[in-house]
Amino acid sequence: MALSYLIGKCQCIDENCLEQQYAICPHCHLWLCLKHTCNHQKLVKIYAHELSDQTDQLVKVFDTLTVDQIYTDCQQKLDLWKNQMITIINTKYQESSKQLFDFNMQLLLEFNKFKQDSLNELQNEIAIPLCDMLTKQNQIHPSILDDINIKLTKIQTAIDKIKQLLFIQIDCGNAQLNGDIQILKDSLSDYVVRMPTFDIEQLNQQPTKKFALKSNYIAAAASDQFILAYDHPSLVLFDCEKELNRVKLNNNEAEVYDLCWSNTMCAFLILTLRSLYVYDPLSSGLKQIEQIKLTDAENIWSITTYQNDLFICYLSGECIIECRSLPSWQKLRRWKKNDICDKDDVYIHCIRANEVFIGMTIKQVNKTWKFGIFDHQMSKIRQIQIDQQIDHINTCMLTPICSQKWLTVNSSLRKISFIDEDNNQIKQINKNVNNGFYFGDQLFVLRTTDGLEFYEL
Ligand SMILES: [Zn+2]
Ligand SMILES: [Zn+2]
Repeated sequence: MALSYLIGKCQCIDENCLEQQYAICPHCHLWLCLKHTCNHQKLVKIYAHELSDQTDQLVKVFDTLTVDQIYTDCQQKLDLWKNQMITIINTKYQESSKQLFDFNMQLLLEFNKFKQDSLNELQNEIAIPLCDMLTKQNQIHPSILDDINIKLTKIQTAIDKIKQLLFIQIDCGNAQLNGDIQILKDSLSDYVVRMPTFDIEQLNQQPTKKFALKSNYIAAAASDQFILAYDHPSLVLFDCEKELNRVKLNNNEAEVYDLCWSNTMCAFLILTLRSLYVYDPLSSGLKQIEQIKLTDAENIWSITTYQNDLFICYLSGECIIECRSLPSWQKLRRWKKNDICDKDDVYIHCIRANEVFIGMTIKQVNKTWKFGIFDHQMSKIRQIQIDQQIDHINTCMLTPICSQKWLTVNSSLRKISFIDEDNNQIKQINKNVNNGFYFGDQLFVLRTTDGLEFYEL
């Protein structure tokens, strides 16, 4: 069988292509021929142009965008409401005024009649009979006086009511406007694109969960789903609920110094002083990488990945940093100590990558630690002295938090330091832990002297 038959056909879905597969396309994740790989690159470029146009448009919008219209619009609505309410009030006022006027006319007529009738009664029905009783009669019967008293009381009651203004009453208290005016404000700051916040003080709270480990070691790392921790002499795999598996390196002498997750390999990379292993959490397969062969003088101490690049940090030997390509493990580039370190730097203990930078914890001749930031080509960006305290032991782990924020964990000084390059500030808490890392976006895990502690951020 000719060799060409062993290579599959292009998987392009747009046309039935008979060419052989050449590369996996990062845009559609299909195996494509060279022509279609290039065609798809054109699609990716069109997409990039669209995003670029959209970005330009959004930038342009800000030339004319203001919030003034919001105020004008609300003021107009308030004014409209005022005018409507004034119209309603005026109508009600006029209707009620007319009713009041009519009632008053009725009352005037009633009053004139009442006055006339009452004066007649007082004069003819009460004053004259009383005068006769007092001047012409010898005896007065009390029942006649009782009748007079009833008549007087009736007139007096009506007069009191007139004096108390009770004949027409108006109650404006129940004439409410139609409900309250509600003015609500939404916060524009909720729409500002924000970096996730990390507050180091949260690591001083009680952990939400704890997994026990038997030994006091440093190496531990997490993928989105799994945590792998070194518990001498085993590697222990956890998910967010429980311990899943324990595996031993076939070389019993070797201690694990560092661990990291590789998205390219979909596996954990495990580093001992002289070799590198991959561990697939789904198959539980543990395999030594034959391509990593060290000379007798070489020892390795820390690893990190960024996309398809693997950075290996050497404790001793000819080079101090080496970059290899994943998944082939091909050597891409090596840097000597002089390329990276200052003359007072002794060694690099921990190397970590975020989306933009490579960070390293560097031990100096005076036994203090500093933090170095490099780009992915190892050009120096900045160096920050973490602490002035002398540390006789050799561990200072590093964790990227976001593009300009890092955490160092120093188990011998029992300190966690939060380094914020944005404002050049370092915030420290005292805590006896060995290592720390994110597990998903919300959980932060600390490797303590006897286990893993989970903190919700
Ligand atoms: Zn594609
Ligand atoms: Zn094709």
